[in-house]
Amino acid sequence: MTDNAQTEPATRHMTVRCQFCETWNRIDAARAPDRPKCGKCGKPILLDRPIALNDETFARTIAESDVPVLVDFYADWCGPCKMMAPFIDEIARERQGNVLVGKLDTDRSQQTAGSFNIRGIPTTIVFRGGKEAARYTGAMKKLGLEDLIERAESA
Ligand SMILES: [Zn+2]
Repeated sequence: MTDNAQTEPATRHMTVRCQFCETWNRIDAARAPDRPKCGKCGKPILLDRPIALNDETFARTIAESDVPVLVDFYADWCGPCKMMAPFIDEIARERQGNVLVGKLDTDRSQQTAGSFNIRGIPTTIVFRGGKEAARYTGAMKKLGLEDLIERAESA
């Protein structure tokens, strides 16, 4: 596993709210690619793409994830955000189970955007253990996102 496997729990979990019935599900991160289903409604919890976060779900999702959480703070009207979106999607697909990828619409979730002092978008923040570990403001390509994750993991 990782270099510090001794201090980390053997099983890493992520906590994600079902987008259909809004039930919180605790998911074994290693099983993310198996298309886990919501414990209540049985619909799939899709972790091969970014999950939509908002003021209601943000704090708990970040706090209760054992894997790093990368969040793309964006807005619909933001051109650079649109250019970056396919790279965010790729990271979500390739890192599923290892990194939880979320997107937060800064217009709709101003409370969260404000509490993290988001002044320009796109801003990408990687959280570890519920805390901000790395941040970059501005559009990035895939390599930039990978660097940011690496920076967060070694922080
Ligand atoms: Zn559900």
